[in-house]
Amino acid sequence: MSLNSDSRIFIAGHRGMVGSAVVRALRAKGVEALLLRSRAELDLCDSVAVERFFAEEKPEMVIHSAARVGGIHANRTFPAEFIYENLSVAQNVIHSAWRQGCQRLLFLGSSCIYPREAPQPIPETALLTGPLEPTNEAYALAKIAGLEMCRHYRNQYGVCYHSAMPTNLYGPGDNYHPDHSHVIPGLLRRFHQAKHDGANSVVLWGTGRPRREFLHVDDLAAGLLTLLETEHPPDIANIGCGEDLPIRELAEVIADVVGFTGEIKTDPSMPDGTPRKLLDISRMRALGWSARISLVDGLRQTYAECLQNGRFEG
Ligand code: GDP
Repeated sequence: MSLNSDSRIFIAGHRGMVGSAVVRALRAKGVEALLLRSRAELDLCDSVAVERFFAEEKPEMVIHSAARVGGIHANRTFPAEFIYENLSVAQNVIHSAWRQGCQRLLFLGSSCIYPREAPQPIPETALLTGPLEPTNEAYALAKIAGLEMCRHYRNQYGVCYHSAMPTNLYGPGDNYHPDHSHVIPGLLRRFHQAKHDGANSVVLWGTGRPRREFLHVDDLAAGLLTLLETEHPPDIANIGCGEDLPIRELAEVIADVVGFTGEIKTDPSMPDGTPRKLLDISRMRALGWSARISLVDGLRQTYAECLQNGRFEG
């Protein structure tokens, strides 16, 4: 499927980190007929409003990047909101897209949908083969429901609905909340503050031993366009950079990028989450996609964007 300058594409969640990266990537390709709605204009949890929107606008293609997301602490503190909102937006958007004749939909999942004890690197076939990581189970279950809906609609109705499973993401437009963010924005903020205050040390949550893989959101957006341009995409495709590192080492890289030279401590009373979740990215490699932005370059760029846009203020 080719993306034309007049392709009518609805990007659900276009103000989020992923959605805004997708908008940038599509505009860079000359696709201008984007259908964008803010939350105030269209509440994706409202099934009647979503159905009306699809009936009126008839998108040809949907990228479903709307989600309530958060780091390990937010996920375990607000599991009810995470499961309710993510289930609602997934089922409303997928079902209305199908009812209103949309043939192509790309759903965004997450690497946390895989079992906690999945083999590493994690192949897509590990889905639903074991228990989930408890700290993000509610979010994962909602995402699993969404991607399974896509698979069943594809099988039963013949529409091309498929899913991408990104690894841990970072980049412009991230959430920098001190407690509810993911590890990269959380640590960028904490190291920046420590440097500003002249503090001697910074504390990491958990033991610093879990390993994580990180992908710049612009690399993800390029991968999503690759999937959309593939005529017969796989039901699920993992998207990662292919390498992971311990949180402690990530913290050292961030300290260096920010220019913090003090001590790095750990707080084992905070959760570690899953020990490791490196994705097997052979399906995306076979389609000719790979990540281009190295972690150090991506972090430098992201920190510069934070300073420029006052992300740590307030
Ligand atoms: P996860 O991949 O779902 O566990 O998401 P996170 O990005 O929230 O956390 C990744 C890892 O970083 C976990 O092991 C956390 O315990 C650890 N971590 C260390 N410091 C922080 C922090 O300041 N914020 C967050 N969110 N995680 C941290």
